[in-house]
Amino acid sequence: MDKITMNTPLVEMDGDEMTRVLWKMIKDELILPFVDLKTEYYDLGLKHRDETGDRVTIDAANAAKKYGVAVKCATITPNKARVEEYGLKEMWKSPNGTIRSILDGTVFRTPIIVKGIEPYVRSWKKPIVMARHAYGDVYKAAEMRIPGEGTCELVFKDADGNTAAEVIHKFKGPGVVQGMHNLDSSIYSFARSCFAYAADQRMDLWFASKDTISKKYDQHFKLIFEEIYNNEYKELFEKLGISYFYTLIDDAVARVVKSEGGFVWALKNYDGDVMSDLVASAFGSLAMMTSVLVSPHGYYEYEAAHGTVQRHYYRYLKGEQTSTNPMATIFAWSGAFKKRGEMDGNPALVKFGSMLEQASIDVIESGKMTGDLASITTLPDAVSLNSKDFIREIRARLTVLMAES
Ligand code: NAP
Ligand code: MG
Repeated sequence: MDKITMNTPLVEMDGDEMTRVLWKMIKDELILPFVDLKTEYYDLGLKHRDETGDRVTIDAANAAKKYGVAVKCATITPNKARVEEYGLKEMWKSPNGTIRSILDGTVFRTPIIVKGIEPYVRSWKKPIVMARHAYGDVYKAAEMRIPGEGTCELVFKDADGNTAAEVIHKFKGPGVVQGMHNLDSSIYSFARSCFAYAADQRMDLWFASKDTISKKYDQHFKLIFEEIYNNEYKELFEKLGISYFYTLIDDAVARVVKSEGGFVWALKNYDGDVMSDLVASAFGSLAMMTSVLVSPHGYYEYEAAHGTVQRHYYRYLKGEQTSTNPMATIFAWSGAFKKRGEMDGNPALVKFGSMLEQASIDVIESGKMTGDLASITTLPDAVSLNSKDFIREIRARLTVLMAES
């Protein structure tokens, strides 16, 4: 069988721990036998980030800008324990945070739906796509420990040196403060990418924030969404028979749980971070949630929504077999192939991406799956496989699908 050729390289961002192990298995078993793979490789493993003073993360993000499509493995965001574990020079920032602030845009997370893995929420029939704003707020905040009595103010100084100030709090004793920001440019592109994605997927769009309490900050998001809808998308949405719906975040969570699914749920950065883990878990497993960062400039970065699965990795290091689920990481690769193929006019690559997804779903639906799914499946005779055997099953199925086509 001739291997599928690629015109333009994918930006490949390798990562950490168990997902780094899966990354190699996926390449060896599911990609290299079928595709004449072209990538520009960046090692975002924590050790290499430390060696390069985190330069590699910035270089990788810039490469994503150059080539347009990247695929990323999960990476460790260091905390104090990791600084000790890896003997780090610094507590490096979250690579995802760094990449997002360079590419801007919105993270869309979609659960992989398979027969036999039923959502915990009985009413959910269709996927809920989570759209998380990927810039600013608490992720780019300045924070301060307030040691004791005193007044804390927000001060803005314009280019001419004029100032405007707002008292945050008159402290009587110690406490904490946080100052966060966002940019009109980023909120506009967030709104536009949400409307564009919803139209593309023919799904309703919901947006929720806390504008009743945050009368300037969250309200501003709400007004921008309204403006973009009325001026740019209303007609198209009506033509497609889809709708835009704004509601308060607390009303939204209540409605989401009673809904059938089948819509894009847009959220601010923090709400999107938290709610996407909740929605992913409620759809069955965090390991079945895919994630793509769509920048307003047309760059795409695909990854799994979960982390490096540290607990499994420590078992793997002790020589134990682990049954870590590679689905979301496989779908990161397939998503990247489909987008690369679409951009390059390479239908064979698009088709390969779809077949890789089909083969993976077929294997699960045939009753062979990793432990996280085996423990919750409604299929009668499910078999729990370790990661390697599961990936080999996918390879066998993929070989059949490729031969048939
Ligand atoms: P995690 O890696 O997502 O894993 C949390 C737990 O969820 C696991 O212990 C496992 O549960 C289950 N799980 C997640 N993915 C799974 C999979 N593919 N197959 C089977 N089970 C899976 O989150 P974490 O342990 O909080 O974080 C570990 C590291 O990942 C941290 O250093 C964090 O900074 C990093 N992180 C990176 C990203 C990213 O790069 N996008 C995102 C989040 C976290 P059981 O142990 O019960 O089996
Ligand atoms: Mg998170």
